[in-house]
Order: sequence, then C-alpha cells, then structure tokens
Amino acid sequence: MTRLLHRKIGAPLPHAVSGQGVTITDSAGRSYIDGSGGAAVSCLGHDHPEVLAAMKAQMERLSYAHTSFFTTDAAEELAERLTALAPDPLNWLYLVSGGSEAVEAALKMARQYYVEIGQPQRRHIIARRQSYHGNTIGALAAGGNAMRRVQFQPILPETHHVSPCYPYRDKGPDETPEAYAARLVQELEQKIEELGGDQVMAFVAEPVVGATMGAVAAVADYFQRIRALCDRHGILLILDEVMCGMGRTGSLFAFEQEGVVPDIVTIAKGMGGGYQPVGGVLLSQQIYEAFRDGSGLFQHGHTYIGHPIATAAANKVVEILTRPGLMDQVTHLGTRLQAGLDAALGQSPHVGDIRGRGLFRGIEIVSDKDDKIPFDPARKIHAGIKAEAMAEGLLCYPMGGTIDGVHGDHVLLAPPYICTEDEIDQIVERLARAIRRVT
Ligand code: PLP
Repeated sequence: MTRLLHRKIGAPLPHAVSGQGVTITDSAGRSYIDGSGGAAVSCLGHDHPEVLAAMKAQMERLSYAHTSFFTTDAAEELAERLTALAPDPLNWLYLVSGGSEAVEAALKMARQYYVEIGQPQRRHIIARRQSYHGNTIGALAAGGNAMRRVQFQPILPETHHVSPCYPYRDKGPDETPEAYAARLVQELEQKIEELGGDQVMAFVAEPVVGATMGAVAAVADYFQRIRALCDRHGILLILDEVMCGMGRTGSLFAFEQEGVVPDIVTIAKGMGGGYQPVGGVLLSQQIYEAFRDGSGLFQHGHTYIGHPIATAAANKVVEILTRPGLMDQVTHLGTRLQAGLDAALGQSPHVGDIRGRGLFRGIEIVSDKDDKIPFDPARKIHAGIKAEAMAEGLLCYPMGGTIDGVHGDHVLLAPPYICTEDEIDQIVERLARAIRRVT
C-alpha cells in the first residue's frame, strides 16, 4: 500500500535503505552494484566520507538563507571553483537545483540576453531530435524525444529540431565522418535560413547524448562546425552537460573533447553526486555583461537556488573530481568497461553497437544485427533487461520505446568513478547474463 505517486503506478519497488561505496542495499538485504549511478548521478558512490562531512559542517552552521537576502561562502566558493575550472569566457555561474531547472534557466538567459542587447526579435530555439533536456515545459520543448512530448505538445512553446549526430544509424556506409558532420551542419544551416538567421536565439545539444540514445558522441568536426555556424549567425550555443558533464566522459566538461567552448553550459547530476539536488548554468562574460550593463538582473529565480547544503556538497564533490588522477581513472576504467563489453557482448547477434566515452557507455540492442532492425516494441526488451539485471544485483539504465519513428532498446552504464576494476568486471558479467537471458 502506498500513498506515494510513483513514476509507474502499480509497479512495486524495493525500498533502498543504505548505500556503501558503489552498492545500494534494499530492505530485503539484497545489494545492487550501481552500474548507472542511478541516472548518471552518483559519481562518487553512496557514502563518500568527505562529502558527508562537508554537508554536516554546513548544516551545523546554516541550513538555509534566501538568495534575495544573502549569499553564502559555500555558494561563492563553488562559483569560484567552477569558473576557474571552466575555460574562458565561461566566467560566471548561476545556481539551480537540478537539470531541468538548469535548462529552463539557460533558455531564459539566452532570450533575455537578446532582449538586453536590442535584438528582441530573436526567439527561435533549435535543438535536435532524439534528445532529452528535462521534463519541465521549456526543457521538454527543447528536447526532441517525441514519446515524452506527445501528450504535452499543445502546451509546449514552439521549438525546432534537426537531426542528431547518430553515426551508428545515420552515417552512410561510404560517408566519411567529416562528410557526415558537414551534412548535418548543412541541415542546421538550412533550418536557420528558413527561420531567418537573425530570428534564432540558440542551438541546444548534448555533447554526448545520454537518456534518449545511450552514450552517443558526435563524430569529429561536428561541434566545431556547429560552433562556427552559430558564430556566423550570432546564435548562442548551449551545451547541455547535465548528464555527460562533471567528469563522466573523462574530462570535467565533455565539450573539452570537442575543441569548442559554448556560450552557456548546463550542469547537474554529477555536480552534487546525488548527495544533494543541485545544478548550475555557466555563462559567458558577454552574457553577464549584457545583464550587468542592461537591466542589472537576471529575471529568474527559485526558492532553493544556491542552497547552502547543496552548494557545500557540490563544492566538495567538484573538488574531489578535480584531484590529480581521478579523470585518468575514469578514462582507464572506461576503456576497461568498453573492452569488457566488447568481449562479452560484441559477438552477440542482438547487440548492435557498444559505444561511449569514459564511464559513460551505451549498448544498443537489436533484433537483427545486420540490418540494425530493432525488437518489436511490445517485447519491452529494455524493461526485461532492467529486471534481469536487478535480479543479478546490478543497476543499469535502460531506455526503449519509439522515438521519432525509430524504435530502440538501449542500456546506459554510468558507474561511479570510484569503482574498482573488479567492480567494472562484475558490471560487465552481470549485464551480459541479463542481456543474454532477455534477447
Ligand atoms: N538534460 C539532460 C541532458 C538530462 O539527461 C537530464 C536528465 O536526465 C536533464 C537535462 C534533466 O535533469 P533533471 O532530471 O535533473 O531535471
């Protein structure tokens, strides 16, 4: 019996009661290796003593102070830390409580920027199909996941979508990565021209697509071409690193591996490591100056932005993430995870693609590998894999359903960065058994 409205009604869930390192234990005493960090959240495991101590110390000093009256050392230190780590001109941090809030704030920031600099006609947002930017109305509108949008479509603000960079399914067999990138960017350019170059305010994309595709990175050149195109038309580039950022791909920011710097970047999930709900928007000096020299305020704000305990937790998490060796460990463990998955599942007739970067890996499940034909959606392969993996004592993040006419079953792995090699191997073995049983 429950009075709690769960995500899925009538599907009882185990009660999580404790976390130790990279495992979660339920009330029946079963332990699960957290192979997906929840949804790419728990990057430092579940009981990191230093993060707990930082939160406790902050709680004992001050639990809450509203940001219209006060700032706090915790929030200021976090802003110092993150802006020192971000490349120029990302010199300013706006704090929020999660990923959808970060995307909402980023979109409003882009809109207000153009109002401040006297280009109020710029109102169009272009994003990509098969993307996910959050569940609130604005973020949902930016996202290109038809399945999540469909019933809300009539109340969503207008947005425009172009093709994602999805080499496994979309790059022609004889097409070079460069030619593929050029084709996609040409499609975006056409969309910009159709809407009017001076009417578009922002292009939004995840550097490595998480929830809708399963760890799909763009081909080389793609983001550099996108950056150049946005610059030509004066369009802001918003990169959504809510899932792929904060070290997940082996660099603190995923965009560092693309050789571009966005105007705005959204972060959350790994930023607080699950210890607190916290997120942020890093913005360029140019946007900051437009606000400072214009209206003098960002017309936005929620009650819990800059929450002292959340920012104290994030401050400690980010400090730990940037200690020498941790990003190398993510890269090393990620390579081991990929190699293990390739060895265990690469020959499977139902594993179409294994991909990703760092500790962010995706497996695409297909019914016919040669023709990349998905399973019948009615079989709910992704849900079966999740259940079998849990029976094996493994948490993985499966996705399925028809997105923009393409049915896909994927499994996303995003284990904590503090995993041992043995735990990585366990994740592979348990997942391989689960996938074999279901397919
Ligand atoms: N943006 C991306 C890329 C995400 O993956 C997610 C969540 O999965 C969000 C935004 C929304 O974040 P939240 O669930 O914290 O609101």
